[in-house]
Amino acid sequence: MAVPAVQQIAQVISQLPPLDQEFLYRRLERLLQPRLSPQVVVDFREKRFANGFSCPHCQRTHIHRHGKYKDRWRYRCVDCGKTFNDATASPLAGTHYGIDRWLKYAKCMSQGMTIRQSAQDVGISVPTAFYWRHKILTALRNLPKSTLTGIVEADETFFLESQKGSRHLTRPARYSGDKAPLRGISHHQVCVLVARDRQTSTVSEVVGRGRVTAEQIGTALDGVLHDCVLCTDAASAYRTYANDKKIPLEALNARRGVKKRGIYHLGNVNSYHSRLKRWIRPFNGVSTKYLPNYLVWFQRIDSTNNFPRNVVANRLLHHSHTPMVFTTTKRLLSP
Ligand SMILES: [Zn+2]
Repeated sequence: MAVPAVQQIAQVISQLPPLDQEFLYRRLERLLQPRLSPQVVVDFREKRFANGFSCPHCQRTHIHRHGKYKDRWRYRCVDCGKTFNDATASPLAGTHYGIDRWLKYAKCMSQGMTIRQSAQDVGISVPTAFYWRHKILTALRNLPKSTLTGIVEADETFFLESQKGSRHLTRPARYSGDKAPLRGISHHQVCVLVARDRQTSTVSEVVGRGRVTAEQIGTALDGVLHDCVLCTDAASAYRTYANDKKIPLEALNARRGVKKRGIYHLGNVNSYHSRLKRWIRPFNGVSTKYLPNYLVWFQRIDSTNNFPRNVVANRLLHHSHTPMVFTTTKRLLSP
């Protein structure tokens, strides 16, 4: 292009309103920034296909190369006929932005920043920041749960049900600061079960509404406990579960003043509850639909408290690329 033409464009741009300039800036940036850097793609590939190269759609392994699209190899599965690339079924699938932004975004997440703060920091829109958050967290939720051994403290904590952001309210809207409509534990309270061993491996899950049942404890803890003594409060659901699974149980009846029996207490799990509640407060009433995502997020942050933020960010992004998860905007928005 001739130089005077470029100068003319620059002249025109300088006279545009700030919002239009901003729009052009983002467009140009998107156009000029490098695609995923090769090394990062190699790292992701190694994580994703650690158990062999397989089709993200049907998990079978008869795969052919299928040309290139935007500098990335595409593959075609001979069995199901579908095509894919290294990012298919990962948070980075279909992204317009380069890996630098994603890393920067993961760093915001490692600091527990709000959507608005992160959007500003990374230079993406608020809706994009929202989708990125939940794409990463939904993927992390699909990683295998930790194994808990030795003394495992388990206890529930409750969150007031919230349909924040939902277009299909099934009850009258409640405004922040409102109290739960019923006293004590009711079906308006979402029950989160946290189990934590003394090596600080943790499982935290939304198990239902109201008081926890033995069946719900099973949903959260089946296959997770190995060579352990379960330490809980005196709720009968734990006793039923432990009897059923033949797991040794130390039940502490705090109402009768038994908060501790030798090395058995619920101090670790209860302090985890308080840290979780304190951390989640600035998000102003997390929607119940997304609560499982916040639980996985906090678990990451809590377990890497002393790590440099860059390391945490890298891990967040890398680990979110291990499982094959198809998250679509549509699914994230559905009630
Ligand atoms: Zn396939």
